[in-house]
Amino acid sequence: MDDCFLIDGNKRTLFVGLVCVDVLNLVSKFPEEDAEYRCIDSYKQRGGNASNSSTVFSLLGGAAEFFGILADDTELPFIQNNFEKFGVKFKNSVVKPNKICPRTVVILSLESHSRTTLHTNKGLPELTLDDFSKNISLSSSEYGWIHFEGRDNAHEIARMITYVNEINKNNSTSIFTSLEAEKLRFAPHLDKLDMWKLPDVLFVSKEFARGQGYTCMEQAVTSYFRKVKNGAVVICAWGEMGAAAMSDQSGLVTSPAFPPSEILDTCGAGDTFIAATLFALGRGKALQMAIKFGCKVAGSKCGVQGFNNLK
Ligand code: ADP
Repeated sequence: MDDCFLIDGNKRTLFVGLVCVDVLNLVSKFPEEDAEYRCIDSYKQRGGNASNSSTVFSLLGGAAEFFGILADDTELPFIQNNFEKFGVKFKNSVVKPNKICPRTVVILSLESHSRTTLHTNKGLPELTLDDFSKNISLSSSEYGWIHFEGRDNAHEIARMITYVNEINKNNSTSIFTSLEAEKLRFAPHLDKLDMWKLPDVLFVSKEFARGQGYTCMEQAVTSYFRKVKNGAVVICAWGEMGAAAMSDQSGLVTSPAFPPSEILDTCGAGDTFIAATLFALGRGKALQMAIKFGCKVAGSKCGVQGFNNLK
């Protein structure tokens, strides 16, 4: 039997998390300290995990919405226009005055394919359940799926997923939930708040799993699967190795990676994988097909700069 996460195509998928500005610099070779270099290219784009995933989900033809906090600074028009350009709804997001938009500077080396990231966040507040419940109406059945990016507001994220789960209990149709555990610093929260048991789908990154001592994706999903609630799914992407996933129905399934002819920009590969996998699951695809689709789209993303040319 297949895992059944089919959602009504008219319902939106909501991505909850960070939006920031990314400045990507493409270099032939990683620079040495205190030296001057010329970049092959430099481009600015809307970033943040949930924001990137909403972009890809929309590019794939899905109805995507982003929910997060937007700083009311000089970057706000860029971010708003860019959401519009990619057809991502964002108007329920909270705009905070007198705050600075977080910024990420990325160095992409063509020689080593390394991705070096410098992130600055000067106190943009994190989302709370109060923001979520006041701005997102779950009673109108607009949403089929809500994906949460695991951030420092773990306690509030746990409350938001619990809130959705409670609403599901009183409704005939359910909103599926997913949670991404990417950064290792999220690990203690998963244990302390027993967040393992909250989402229907748990995405665990390679960085997260490695930091917890796992050496391969199969080992990671098998182990994390013991912690999630009955009927839930665990999915783990592992760079050039592809991805693995586990559910009661499918057991352990894997997909290879699909490398492009030239690796140009791996920034957002994980976010792309999540968006494409959710897109496929929401269309009723079996778990193995869904992660394979995730790997294919994420592989294509590695071969293009930014998201503009993603097919
Ligand atoms: P992150 O961007 O979060 O570090 P990963 O590196 O685990 O995420 O990559 C996510 C997915 O992107 C992988 O499962 C794989 O399908 C694809 N991917 C990443 N790097 C490559 C690569 N070098 N070649 C082909 N596919 C890749």
